[in-house]
Amino acid sequence: MRTYDFKLRPNKEQAKYLDSLLLETKCLYNNALQELIEHYKTTNKYLNRFSQDKNYNKQTYPNIPSQFVDTTLDRLHRSFANFFRGLKQGKKIGFPRFQSYKRWSSFAFRDYTQGKIKQGKWYISKTNGIKVIQHRDIEGTPKLTRLVKRADGYYVQLVCETGVIKTKKTNKQVGLDLGLKYFVADSNGNKINAPKFFRKSEYKIVKVQRVLSKRKKGSKRRNKARQIVAKNHLKIQRQRKDWLHKLSYKYANENDVVVVENLNVSGMIKNKHLALSISDASWQTFVSMLEYKLQTLSKILIKVNPAYTSQICSECGAIVKKSLSQRTHCCPECLYVEDRDVNAAKNILKKGLVQSLGENTAIAGSVTREATRSLA
Ligand SMILES: [Zn+2]
Repeated sequence: MRTYDFKLRPNKEQAKYLDSLLLETKCLYNNALQELIEHYKTTNKYLNRFSQDKNYNKQTYPNIPSQFVDTTLDRLHRSFANFFRGLKQGKKIGFPRFQSYKRWSSFAFRDYTQGKIKQGKWYISKTNGIKVIQHRDIEGTPKLTRLVKRADGYYVQLVCETGVIKTKKTNKQVGLDLGLKYFVADSNGNKINAPKFFRKSEYKIVKVQRVLSKRKKGSKRRNKARQIVAKNHLKIQRQRKDWLHKLSYKYANENDVVVVENLNVSGMIKNKHLALSISDASWQTFVSMLEYKLQTLSKILIKVNPAYTSQICSECGAIVKKSLSQRTHCCPECLYVEDRDVNAAKNILKKGLVQSLGENTAIAGSVTREATRSLA
């Protein structure tokens, strides 16, 4: 699955129409939710999707095209289904909430054909084509179309199903160490810093947030400040995502096998003494991007337990204890000197390849043979 976001440039009238659709679908959702709750109170039974459907038609909601009535009701019943599943499995999934206009920011189309992009315009009922900025071609088959409102305007979102793309084997493998000093250190000796804007934009957010907190509740100026904060958040998100996309693409493209540490385990070990870093969330995103990119290229991601990867000498296997502040690995046994994180990345790669020997026979024979050779 792949998601495309294209910005819409509606004129005043079209923007008004989109706003009204959002408002009406939100009301419909809330009314339907209210009805479900009341029905349960009186009959002790859940009103299912199709029985509820009868109460929502052209007469009751004349301003909403029927497909949005459908998808909005679907959404409500899906969140109920999730809630009930959570109850069964003992997971905490919240009861469906009433939506405010701040939270309700999207609605879906019944199928892709209902919202097609033709010659730079996007057609949604009652409008004669909204200008859309399609900055890239669509790959795969569109499965879902959504209209999304963000801090900086309207977007059309297409979720497409992409098949597996066949690529030439590179016969290369890489191990990655995700750390605080470098965002990534790899087993080839590359050290990549997190870009400065990771921190810089965070200061900006703190600043605008402070302005927001000083504004009187319910005032126009507060509303404006709220919009500025939201826009800044959006900008940071995009900058980060863009950078992470490029980095993960590079590793997925240049290698057949990528080995990373299992973050759930390492997060606890590494950050035991350290303040929670903003990198944490970015690591997770990075790994999931990497995973999905490798998958579409029919390549492999291996996750390993990071225990001891920073202590073992990647050349001779001796255990060389070091504190968190010690940045260089110097092996007293074989006199190997390497950056601490690069040494760890090399160990991660080895660990992954050994692990794959046991688990995954699908990996090309050459990879595993090489691993056994380097370990022998
Ligand atoms: Zn050594």
